[in-house]
Amino acid sequence: MQIRTGIGYDVHRLEAGRRLVLGGIRIPSPLGLAGHSDADALIHAMIDALLGASSDGDIGRLFPDTDPAWKDADSMDLLKAVMARLRKGRFEVVNVDTVIITEKPAIAPHVAAMKRVLCPILGIKPEALGIKGKTNEGLGPIGRGKAVACLATVLLRRTPRKRTL
Ligand code: MG
Repeated sequence: MQIRTGIGYDVHRLEAGRRLVLGGIRIPSPLGLAGHSDADALIHAMIDALLGASSDGDIGRLFPDTDPAWKDADSMDLLKAVMARLRKGRFEVVNVDTVIITEKPAIAPHVAAMKRVLCPILGIKPEALGIKGKTNEGLGPIGRGKAVACLATVLLRRTPRKRTL
């Protein structure tokens, strides 16, 4: 059995007049993440970690933000498409760990809801998905509430190809 690790990062600006979608759920907030898709930075970081671990390119290559097909795309659909690619390559997820770096809103109250929607897609139990909120201690644009950044690491397991006798 093959074990592969991957890392992903994403950052999006916080702007007025956008919905805040993070970890596949809508979070009430006066500001939302700006982007071509729904700008779900947590899912984008997870996707890059998954693609990195499976040596399958990156989110920009698979879903270019110049392609109108992905305008206002639901990042959950992108994650589902990436998981389908992984399964084709005989990969399965062992665990995912993430950090959401944001001054506001607080992440902890939303972790359970994020796990409820993400775990079935990732094919893992809630205890195999880590989601941790972290402030940037007021430093830089993230500290001033202008952006949200996310980090993700994943561990994949690849089942060997069946031998044909
Ligand atoms: Mg992104």
